[in-house]
Amino acid sequence: PLMSAGIFLSASIGVAAYHLGRRREPMATELLRAINTPAVSLYYQPIVDLNSGARVGAEALIRWEREGKFESPERFILAAETAGVVTRVTQRVLQMAADDAAFVTHCDHGARPQHLSINISVQDLQSTEIISELRKLMVKTNLPASCFWIEITERALLEGATTSEVLAAIRALGMKVALDDFGTGYSCLSVLTEFKFDILKIDRVFVSQIETGSTLMIEHIIKLGQSLGLEFVAEGVETTAQRDFLRDMGVRYAQGWLYSRPLPVMSYISERGKYYAPAVNCTQYQAGRL
Ligand code: C2E
Ligand code: MG
Ligand code: MG
Ligand code: MG
Repeated sequence: PLMSAGIFLSASIGVAAYHLGRRREPMATELLRAINTPAVSLYYQPIVDLNSGARVGAEALIRWEREGKFESPERFILAAETAGVVTRVTQRVLQMAADDAAFVTHCDHGARPQHLSINISVQDLQSTEIISELRKLMVKTNLPASCFWIEITERALLEGATTSEVLAAIRALGMKVALDDFGTGYSCLSVLTEFKFDILKIDRVFVSQIETGSTLMIEHIIKLGQSLGLEFVAEGVETTAQRDFLRDMGVRYAQGWLYSRPLPVMSYISERGKYYAPAVNCTQYQAGRL
């Protein structure tokens, strides 16, 4: 019995060490190993027109299923950026987006294809490589460039010649450039004059403040953007009060749980969420009940 206890003990230690070893592997390394497997995928969240309630596009959001649950994209994208490998993640994101784009942009049977928003990292703007990647996306999907909205987070935007040249090149392709998480960065105002954007995405921090009546910030953000002739997408719209406020302020587009959670592509297309039930379903859209 002593010996079997010994075997059991060393086996347990072995298993524990194995798990510890796995845990100690850098997150970015593990992500890259999973990047071409089904563990990494894109989910799609509808973007709606606040006036009609109709779906006009979608944002692609990366998902990584790791040890039985979804890892936070904020965490692993940051890890990939820190390790300097995020461009490889972006490459895979663009590949998956290209595979899904035809379905996602045509799934409401409208006359025109809908738009697809894709998040890229500020590190992607350090080289012109991204331009050929985006050109490939256009060729593969055969969609008009204006269908692609490229989102860049304000927090990470650094002033620099390459950054603004690459941003200008993306716009020269005919794609739209959106400033993500607007208002949460440090450079809020200077960034708007330094770089040229088509769309501002109002961060959900400001949208959530509508509920408590603290609308001063969001009102100023909207007025500022409007004076620059920019289009808005409000993020994180969860209540009808938020929706109504934003619509009355002249914000055109919104996304949030009020309308739908991000969905796997098949659920997005069929509007029948398997993992997340969308707040608004396809029949409601079609019946014009929104
Ligand atoms: P983001 O681009 O600002 O995306 C919006 C985030 O808000 C998403 O989080 C989305 O799931 C969440 N969200 C949407 N509606 C609601 C709502 O009504 N309530 C609440 N509480 N949350 C809502 P997610 O998917 O966890 O992504 C987090 C961030 O990770 C994204 O923020 C983006 O910065 C980054 N990210 C996601 N996918 C990619 C990608 O493919 N590439 C890169 N570079 N970054 C990505
Ligand atoms: Mg985004
Ligand atoms: Mg955002
Ligand atoms: Mg955000």
